[in-house]
Amino acid sequence: MIVLKFGGTSVGSVENFRKVAQIVQSTAGEKIVVLSAMSGVTNTLVRITDLLKTSSVEEALVLIHRLNEKYLEVAKDLIASDDNYFKAQIVLKRHHEVLLTIASEPFSGKNEKTIMAQGELISTNLFQLYMDEVDGNSVLLSALDFMQIDQHAEPRTEVIQNRLSKVLANHSARTFITQGFICRNINNEIDNLNRGGSDYSASLIGAAVQADQIQIWTDIDGMHNNDPRFVDHTFSVEELSFDEAAELAYFGAKILHPQSIIPAQENNIPVLLKNTFKPESKGTLIHNRARTKKIRAIAAKDNITAIKIKSYRMLMAYGFLKKVFDVFEQHKTSIDMITTSEVAVSLTIDNTSKLEAIKNELQGFGNIEVDSDLSIICIAGDLAQNKKGITSAIFNGLRDIPIRMISYGGSNYNLSFLVKTSDKISVLNILNEGLFAELALEAI
Ligand code: ASP
Ligand code: MG
Repeated sequence: MIVLKFGGTSVGSVENFRKVAQIVQSTAGEKIVVLSAMSGVTNTLVRITDLLKTSSVEEALVLIHRLNEKYLEVAKDLIASDDNYFKAQIVLKRHHEVLLTIASEPFSGKNEKTIMAQGELISTNLFQLYMDEVDGNSVLLSALDFMQIDQHAEPRTEVIQNRLSKVLANHSARTFITQGFICRNINNEIDNLNRGGSDYSASLIGAAVQADQIQIWTDIDGMHNNDPRFVDHTFSVEELSFDEAAELAYFGAKILHPQSIIPAQENNIPVLLKNTFKPESKGTLIHNRARTKKIRAIAAKDNITAIKIKSYRMLMAYGFLKKVFDVFEQHKTSIDMITTSEVAVSLTIDNTSKLEAIKNELQGFGNIEVDSDLSIICIAGDLAQNKKGITSAIFNGLRDIPIRMISYGGSNYNLSFLVKTSDKISVLNILNEGLFAELALEAI
């Protein structure tokens, strides 16, 4: 069994739906196709929710009607037979009515989740009707029948596995189509796996059926060795280990939801990242047997704030870091990078919503300095500490760039450092030259 997940852009238009169908058809064997909502739809649904929350019902209705019209047009262009077009109209009417009913009721959290689910429910329905015309061997499964989360919003993997195997046993088809993102919660209400959660759905489904491969189809050629927006001649990385992918996922390598990698890794299922618009490109294969390579990829993350806490009380004292970490824990702010000296500790955060409160509390520990507009540069690869020459290869070209923090040795797969965001583009280019020049030329 192969799981193929297509993101919002891949199902963003009639033309793209057709591309997806071609890809699905040319994939041999049994498969489960997991779809996102058409691009932009989930954002519209969030907007509708916000309007209803503030009782701006008229404005919400305008968006609801507009969405329905858009879908009717898509259905008309996509589906050829009168029969299936009629079915599509019924489906769309039903979902339109769900939104209209919610708009007429007092707003509740439960309604919010139902609104958010409409995008995936509709895209999968339309796609299945289309697949029925081109292939005739597909079945639509409702993710609400098997995707379950517990009271902590964590997936109930055993329940998912049991239910999905029962659902699959009830049908014989080459192609099963289902929704990403949506699920039921512990009260059996409609819920979801948070924004961008369709990758996670695909990975959970892949794990549940012990798939041979999980394919994530997006609009880029897999994971790039560097950021193509800022660096010329980047290329897609052919293979990555799960550890390297996990290090890179945080760094806006948005192609993969960081959490989504866990079920695949735990079950040793290879994940192939592919481009719907260039299916002939190899993409990136993430698997446990990836050959090791010194430097695999470079990524950057902006909007980083560094906090330095300097205190002579830290000198030879124990328990100091715990107190510092407790402050961040209390304010539910995660720390990304950390370096320490005997009398100071520097750490970075990317969520600054609680910064003032954190600063006030840290004030009690020593002298606090905060720097913003920083970027973390992450270098991922086989960077085990017993290797020679890695750090000099990395820092050689950077002699004119001020570096605020360096973190190395935390894992074997990562070296990160912090620079001013205004230096980021030069850093990415210098590193590209130094670390990838030959590889990049080969790839042109
Ligand atoms: N449609 C949802 C979102 O936009 C889930 C997904 O696409 O992964 O967040
Ligand atoms: Mg997405």
